[in-house]
Amino acid sequence: MEHKIIEVLELLDPEGNNSGKWRLTIRSDEKPNPCALCTHTHDSYEEAWNCLEAWAAAKKLSGDSI
Ligand SMILES: [Zn+2]
Repeated sequence: MEHKIIEVLELLDPEGNNSGKWRLTIRSDEKPNPCALCTHTHDSYEEAWNCLEAWAAAKKLSGDSI
């Protein structure tokens, strides 16, 4: 069974530096590159983790397995 990992990652600016903006992402054994679950730029880890839109997208991608 495919293993999915959902985590909040800090966005990087064009120079590759931490931007102070956060987003919920999903990745899996099959697709190791994190995929953003929303298009927001959240101001904190907690805000990104609590993004309802991102969780709705995650559930859509993985069925009811999370
Ligand atoms: Zn969001």
